[in-house]
Amino acid sequence: MEASLNAYQDEQPPLQAENFCRKHEKNSKLSGVKIDIEKLYEAVPQLVNVFKIKEKIGEGTFSSVYLATAQLQAGCEEKMALKHLIPTSHPLRIAAELQCLTIAGGQDNVMGVKYCFRKNDHVVIVMPYLEHESFLDVLNSLSFEEVREYMFNLFKALRRIHHFGIVHRDVKPSNFLYNRRLKEYALVDFGLAQGTPDTKIELLRVVQSESQQESCSQNKPHLTLGNRVSVNVTASRQLNSQPQKHLINGAASFHKCRLNKEKEERF
Ligand code: ADP
Ligand code: MG
Repeated sequence: MEASLNAYQDEQPPLQAENFCRKHEKNSKLSGVKIDIEKLYEAVPQLVNVFKIKEKIGEGTFSSVYLATAQLQAGCEEKMALKHLIPTSHPLRIAAELQCLTIAGGQDNVMGVKYCFRKNDHVVIVMPYLEHESFLDVLNSLSFEEVREYMFNLFKALRRIHHFGIVHRDVKPSNFLYNRRLKEYALVDFGLAQGTPDTKIELLRVVQSESQQESCSQNKPHLTLGNRVSVNVTASRQLNSQPQKHLINGAASFHKCRLNKEKEERF
């Protein structure tokens, strides 16, 4: 008994220290998020009048996603997800992601888009917010029927995007949002998408496949531009000199882009 009591007492300091560290980590994370939110308001001041940004709900290499509320005219608040793409993202890549959401999204479990804000090199895509589970949290408790429904709804989303000639290339649990209670699903994140040869997404036609890239890399120097895209140097300069409003139409003439490989886990 004494021995076990001693063992228990021995464990106390490390436990307390661990709790303290966790609390400290949580607090510094919270203040880090607050700072990020302030910075986002500063970078894109148009957001201030429209959204109350509440918290960060996702952070990847290429973007941060925030939960925000918007005050609607009718007086009620609507929840939205604000995706702030890292400023080094290539404009063509951003425009292609946006075009996928705009054209294919909003139906059949494919996330849609509500607005897009830009100031200088900061772009924020505003989407309807879908509250969702962490897939790992529910994985072991899903029933056979739930798995069946999950897969059915995933295929529904994929059928829709494939109809538009979009190859998502990053299908994984964190990009397929799942609300278990409401049985709602949404495919998100077209940051790596490519087009089939007959794609209906104009901007994906200029995002070349890796195999095409192989042949062009022999002739032209390439520049990696941060967000999963590299373009040949000539195209990059031309692209950067274009005013933003010409981006969507003008981008079609900028070819020889390629996606960099990403080492994220897939399904
Ligand atoms: P990234 O390109 O950084 O991976 P994603 O578009 O995949 O960005 O979003 C990252 C995370 O943000 C998602 O895994 C999800 O948790 C959350 N998220 C993205 N869009 C929404 C949305 N419309 N509603 C709710 N959460 C979202
Ligand atoms: Mg993602």
